[in-house]
Amino acid sequence: MNLADHTTLGLGGPARAWATAATEDELIEAVQKAERDGPVLILGGGSNLVVADEGFPGTIVQVTTSGLAVDGDTVTVAAGENWDSVVRRTLAAGLPGLECLSGIPGLAGATPIQNVGAYGSEVSDTIRGVRVFDRQTLKTSFFPNDTCGFAYRSSMFRGDDRYLILDVTFGLGAPAPVRYTELAATAGQNPSPAEVRNAVLALRRGKGMVIDPADPDTRSAGSFFTNPVVPADRVPDGAPRYETSPGLVKVPAAWLIEQAGFAKGYHGPGGARISAKHTLALVNDGTATTADLLALAREIRDGVHATFAITLHPEPAQSRTPRTCQWRQRAALSRAAGASRWGSRRAAGAIGIRARPRPPRSAGERTALRKLFVLRKLVAPRIETLRFWRFTFHNVGRSPQCEKFPQSANATLRINPTRVRPQCANGVNELP
Ligand SMILES: Cc1cc2nc3c(=O)[nH]c(=O)nc-3n(C[C@H](O)[C@H](O)[C@H](O)COP(=O)(O)OP(=O)(O)OC[C@H]3O[C@@H](n4cnc5c(N)ncnc54)[C@H](O)[C@@H]3O)c2cc1C
Repeated sequence: MNLADHTTLGLGGPARAWATAATEDELIEAVQKAERDGPVLILGGGSNLVVADEGFPGTIVQVTTSGLAVDGDTVTVAAGENWDSVVRRTLAAGLPGLECLSGIPGLAGATPIQNVGAYGSEVSDTIRGVRVFDRQTLKTSFFPNDTCGFAYRSSMFRGDDRYLILDVTFGLGAPAPVRYTELAATAGQNPSPAEVRNAVLALRRGKGMVIDPADPDTRSAGSFFTNPVVPADRVPDGAPRYETSPGLVKVPAAWLIEQAGFAKGYHGPGGARISAKHTLALVNDGTATTADLLALAREIRDGVHATFAITLHPEPAQSRTPRTCQWRQRAALSRAAGASRWGSRRAAGAIGIRARPRPPRSAGERTALRKLFVLRKLVAPRIETLRFWRFTFHNVGRSPQCEKFPQSANATLRINPTRVRPQCANGVNELP
């Protein structure tokens, strides 16, 4: 079965094996069984996935579980429920809170992973907790909101295949605040939650952000790049700026891309182009390959970097070889992807955005990476006991795995007690 038929981009080659799981037990069993045979990729709605043209050299486990339980203002939703249907049904049940997140494609189980957000709302605003199956301990557990490490388009579930999300519990009842001027103008004065939903859907349709087979601009993975967070003194002149924390400013990636010379509709190699409606969405015009799309993504990233010395980072998920995978399987996967060292190229088989040969590391890089490893493996699990930590590493900028760090600058890692994983200064969670 081709993954192109299961991703909103319409891209991706075949998978070696495929399993569909309609109940929680089936889901857990399917993942455990598939793990014994090699890499596993959990598939939701495929709206945030870029899969290589070569496909996935393992098993796809497709989540099709269902169920939405309401208990007062608490709503628990199975991972396989369609997200927009959850928004619609909770509003119909008189439980507002999710209306600003209307029209986001995909399934409920994926929403905590990148803390989906739109129009000033994020799922983490209403999530009470996430129930998961831990693929390492083989136990199910419930993570309350403040242990999920939620941040801008990020959480502790992102970039880590350890947790299989089973269901998500929301606390609803309070209408979402209308923070965006554009949304307030469309929704009118004192809009009801239903009016907010309609306004959001109308705005999103105008930008090609609601999946519509009749609209070729929706053959995308949504926003391809996250908005970079940069030190205040590095914000380009004239750029819109939103302060996220003292000294750090979020800059719209769309503004950077346009100012770097990439207009809406810009055609990259082959059949990949920028959406005619939304600068952040990269679109398959129907003839593209994943290689075309990634070439366009690199062209844009490099163009923005050349103009502003700011590196954009992709938002869509990179599928990974699971931690539980045997080293032999990892080695085979990486060799297939042309990697020079197996341990570092796990993701390359499924997505090509970083799939280029890595130059040898300098002694400084090796030291920095060792420190990062210690930080992740030893310190992070214990950070509930810490108030606030700030680390500064030198020389990590030269590693392609740390390409989020400017070449010559120091990388500053910050941890606070609500974040269980280290996070880079620019908000990207892709540490080596
Ligand atoms: C047109 C369009 C508009 C979009 N607009 C927005 C937007 O406004 N805001 C926003 O934040 N995002 C947006 N997105 C991105 C996307 O819709 C969301 O990230 C969505 O939550 C992805 O859900 P999915 O079920 O399709 O996940 P998939 O693409 O199937 O999977 C994404 C990742 O999550 C993992 N995963 C999925 N389900 C589970 C599970 N149960 N347990 C463990 N891992 C799992 C997958 O392995 C993969 O790594 C948009 C996408 C498109 C195509």
